[in-house]
Amino acid sequence: MLSYQHRYHVGNHGDVLKHLSWVSVIQYLNEKDKPYALIDSHAGEGVYSHELDEAHESNQGVDLLNSVNASSGDVSTYLSILNKFKNNNQLPGSPAVAAELMREYDEMHCIELHPQANQLLKQFVKSSNMRISCHKRDAFEGLKALVPPKLKRGAVLIDPPYEQLQEYQLVKETITEVTKRWPNGQLLVWIPLLGRRSPQKGKAAEALIHSLQQLKTEKCDVVTCKLSTKEKTAQEGMYGSALIAINASWKFKESMSKSLSCASDIMGPLYTWSVE
Ligand code: SAM
Repeated sequence: MLSYQHRYHVGNHGDVLKHLSWVSVIQYLNEKDKPYALIDSHAGEGVYSHELDEAHESNQGVDLLNSVNASSGDVSTYLSILNKFKNNNQLPGSPAVAAELMREYDEMHCIELHPQANQLLKQFVKSSNMRISCHKRDAFEGLKALVPPKLKRGAVLIDPPYEQLQEYQLVKETITEVTKRWPNGQLLVWIPLLGRRSPQKGKAAEALIHSLQQLKTEKCDVVTCKLSTKEKTAQEGMYGSALIAINASWKFKESMSKSLSCASDIMGPLYTWSVE
């Protein structure tokens, strides 16, 4: 069941998209002094080794983001976090990105079910001075139980591995429940864009993107960000990914347009992006 390990994919272009979005949401929350709660439903190990044999997918992601001079706004913030970890031969996962940005009075709940990943996550949490709690439970059940958090301001990152076809449906059902229980919470949902090698999952991913876009109302903005590589062949698996922001702040669309434009300029002509 739990065979996916993010250490073999860490730092890829999917991570660039989700971590830039996470930075944008947290920086927005940081604009007010009021404390907030973050929930990372599929947290992973927290921090990863940047040894090239393990972190090879970073060649098509964070390793291309190497020009601090050309960066601006949230990309500069993300780059300084990346550089801090790279100096120790590490790459930050989503909990580490958040821990760098939250204040000592904010809180974060990280859910991770894989025994080894959960153990490593606990070590990361212990080494951080932030108010972070670690939950070893199923993400979909745990997320529903954790919302609404006591601190009513906040955001959720939902980043499943989508190894099982049923995860696409589980994400949809969980989001329906979470938005009911926590109408003010901002939700970020990461979804892979898959080539013809995975036709069933590709269709399920497109259907999930479409159904989440339907949640847009006058009171609830839904923004779809995509970052893809143009190297899309019939054999290819994941050629890009989408990040759906539900209940997005008024600033999110503009800040992500700036970030993805800047990041794809640095990453080179093979990368394409959209925000709508
Ligand atoms: N968000 C992380 C980051 O950006 O660094 C990466 C997360 S990785 C894509 C997905 C994680 O979800 C894996 O560590 C996996 O062990 C965990 N996972 C898979 N199914 C789960 C479940 N049902 N409940 C909790 N965690 C799960």
